[in-house]
Amino acid sequence: MIFNIITLFPDFFETPLKSSIIGKSIKNRKIKVNIYNLRDFTPYKHKQCDDKPYGGGEGMVMMIEPIYNALKFVNEKWKNNYVIYPSPQGELFSNKKAKELAENKKVITFLCGHYEGVDNRVIENFIDEEISIGDYILTGGEVATLVLIDAISRHIKGVVQKKESVDNDSLNNYLLKYPQYTRPADFKGLKVPEVLLSGNHEEIKKWREEMRIKVTKKKRKDLYKKFKKERCKSE
Ligand code: SAM
Repeated sequence: MIFNIITLFPDFFETPLKSSIIGKSIKNRKIKVNIYNLRDFTPYKHKQCDDKPYGGGEGMVMMIEPIYNALKFVNEKWKNNYVIYPSPQGELFSNKKAKELAENKKVITFLCGHYEGVDNRVIENFIDEEISIGDYILTGGEVATLVLIDAISRHIKGVVQKKESVDNDSLNNYLLKYPQYTRPADFKGLKVPEVLLSGNHEEIKKWREEMRIKVTKKKRKDLYKKFKKERCKSE
């Protein structure tokens, strides 16, 4: 999978893309991330990329021309490029969506908005999809882009070493993951559930399945309702 990022703040991505699983996946060529500085595509003096909004009002708006030029460059370089504009006005992101994108797209370009966002003609004409990472407002699309790349990458073969880790993660089948523990088995009287020390794999499996339901019911009533509905349908 190739990810392209068009941004006014290329430095923002330096450390996150070198760290942990994403950093390793870039090194191992499971994913590739190209960063484009929007200022390299502007025809305006002083590398200007934003201006005051027509009609007045607060803040600055990112101009259409540098974005058009940057997207033209990226689209010519990669066929079937899918352009996402992270935006609070988009469809809410989910694990399901991450999997769908990982399975169906080969090249994704993220256009990072800033200030008041982009000239609306960009959204109307040059974007395939707007995606929101939550109902709150960020200062820029860079944080959202990192979230999207991270979540999509988990569904790309070889990024997470064990496929079961992804399949058993929270949210699959509307359930959260069972509680997990590691050494020591007794920390100042705080004990690990007996069953996990029993070595009885059948019992452990049964306990984990029960705990997934119990934890979901306690922490995420919305998901639990969906899980119950699905279970009723299949019975
Ligand atoms: N004025 C815009 C509005 O009210 O819809 C918000 C602009 S926001 C301050 C600047 C940029 O951050 C946006 O262009 C977008 O790229 C990004 N952004 C903000 N909130 C986001 C969210 N919840 N999900 C994804 N991107 C977001």
